[in-house]
Amino acid sequence: MIQPDADLLHRYLFEQRDCRGELVQLHDTYARIIEGHDYPQVIAKLLGEALAATCLLTATLKFEGEITVQIQGDGPLSLLVINGRNDQSMRGIARLKSHAGSDMGFQQLIGHGQMVITVAPDQGERYQGIVELSEATFSACLEQYFIRSEQLATCLKLFADAESQQCGGILLQALPQQNDADDFQHLQVLTSTLKAGELFDLPAEQVLHRLFHEENVTLYPAQSVCFKCSCSRERSKQALLSMGKDEVLQLFSEQEQVDIHCQYCNSHHVFNQEDMIELFGKTNPSIH
Ligand SMILES: [Zn+2]
Repeated sequence: MIQPDADLLHRYLFEQRDCRGELVQLHDTYARIIEGHDYPQVIAKLLGEALAATCLLTATLKFEGEITVQIQGDGPLSLLVINGRNDQSMRGIARLKSHAGSDMGFQQLIGHGQMVITVAPDQGERYQGIVELSEATFSACLEQYFIRSEQLATCLKLFADAESQQCGGILLQALPQQNDADDFQHLQVLTSTLKAGELFDLPAEQVLHRLFHEENVTLYPAQSVCFKCSCSRERSKQALLSMGKDEVLQLFSEQEQVDIHCQYCNSHHVFNQEDMIELFGKTNPSIH
């Protein structure tokens, strides 16, 4: 059952326009990503925008897999990552290397940077698209990505409010078979009138009605979006194994237990010496 105030992704089609759309409204997922991190407001806001964008991107996946949106630069924000799966489970993190002032714009936060979008099917080859972050806003950079990678006219608006922990976005894209470019331009004008308040406070049906009441829009069933981290005790175990016995032994010579902390969800996976024996076997005299 989908709760009325749940985080939802909507897809829709303009019957007479050869264009499609997506709308996403998020609260809990966003709250889980920023909670406990003490991010400056501008960073939390950008995380919200990137989260909404990743939901819109993963909505187009036609297979089981993951899309990673990664921003890296030489500005105060050194790294921002959002991982999204085709089932709309999301996680994300940002790393700062210096102070991010509250008045800093997108370009100032990033400095010289790029966005790397990795599409990784569970079965099959992954592929990457790289976009220089030369536009003034994150949405404008993403539009560049869409135009280059899919060669389809795309319009994107992203919103985030770190204080109320709400974020979301809207996407309009021409279909490959589109004949009339005026269709896209007409709908682009309507799409760009969307206000943050409308997106945050109104149900999707009402938002779409306000924007496109003269259009013939088919709205598909909504998909739930949730926060989910892919870390686990098993994965941490694999990480220890891949470090190799000598290096792990070194860790245990300095401390009683090894704590593998997941920065995405703040989980701690703790391993003691008995776990070590189970992992590597009881062959070393320093392990009792
Ligand atoms: Zn985790």
